[in-house]
Amino acid sequence: MSGGVSSVERAPQLSVVVPCYNEQGVLPELRSRLIAACEEAVGSDFEVIFVDDGSTDRTRVLLREFQSEDSRLVALVLARNHGHQLALSAGLSIVRGEKIFVLDADLQDPPELLKPMLDLMGERYDVVYGQRLSRKQETVFKTRTAHYFYRILNRIVSFDIPADTGDFRLMSRRVVDVLNDMPEAHRFVRGMVSWAGFAQVPFPYDRDERFAGETKYPFRQMLRLALDAITAFSTVPLKFATAIGFVFAAFAGVFGIYTVSAYFAGHTVEGWATLSVLILLLGGVQLIVLGVFGEYIGRLYMQSKGRPLYIIESIYRSAPKKVSRALNEAETPETFDEQA
Ligand code: UDP
Ligand code: MG
Repeated sequence: MSGGVSSVERAPQLSVVVPCYNEQGVLPELRSRLIAACEEAVGSDFEVIFVDDGSTDRTRVLLREFQSEDSRLVALVLARNHGHQLALSAGLSIVRGEKIFVLDADLQDPPELLKPMLDLMGERYDVVYGQRLSRKQETVFKTRTAHYFYRILNRIVSFDIPADTGDFRLMSRRVVDVLNDMPEAHRFVRGMVSWAGFAQVPFPYDRDERFAGETKYPFRQMLRLALDAITAFSTVPLKFATAIGFVFAAFAGVFGIYTVSAYFAGHTVEGWATLSVLILLLGGVQLIVLGVFGEYIGRLYMQSKGRPLYIIESIYRSAPKKVSRALNEAETPETFDEQA
């Protein structure tokens, strides 16, 4: 794995990871606000890792430009679009800092909160996670579904995944080490952080509007993230079949007694409509249960291939300060396999 800390390099106090997918409209503003926030918090002792998640706009060009102008910035380019959670994981795999700050590129998570979050973290906490008090400009549908999703999730997992959070958070090195050691392909990073444990504390904040561009999480992506989250942390849905089976068996018992007694009482019920409804209902329930199994088996299959989680095309990072070689050196293309 490249990008690790060599013996002559000193780890920066802070690493920032920002996944970017077609974010050309926000990048210049993000850069100035983020750098100002970092400088206010830790002086110059930080690095910012921008992950280009296979963007098709000018994101990559801009990130390379940024990197060549400021040696504290790193551009990590993925070979194609891998999705938010994997882009974030790729960034986390090359951080060198002692504390790690994660935020979205679109400025919905205000970079200026870095300083107060660091203050709250102090020496006491390993994770300070942003908890959304309000979400400007997000549809009622999105906020409501997210609300219920977290409540259902919390009922079926055996540890606490705080509601109304995103990936906006500050983490200690040891938490990020735990994440980097988790080989799962279907990643729900905020859940993995909760799973890791250590001392975690919420940081309530108001979520801003997206600065420019549009959301990359349409309903389909949200649904997929929700399924990844549930299947990653709970096997409760697999047990639905048993529960539903008992309900139907009980129903069949009662209904059976009723039918037989009706027969002996001399008025057999005409049953066509009832029968067809029952058959459709049972067929539907069985297909749903099969579908739930499919969600797990599909993920098991994909994981069993043991493929790398993402492909890193290049990392643009300045050479360590002590070495007076040219900045801007691109490391050789490589793949990074968390299972290696
Ligand atoms: N993102 C990414 N890869 C993707 C989709 C999104 O790296 O395939 C990034 C995106 O650039 C942004 C963050 O993930 O920094 C969150 O995306 P977005 O703001 O669109 O989601 P929302 O805030 O609407 O839920
Ligand atoms: Mg956003």
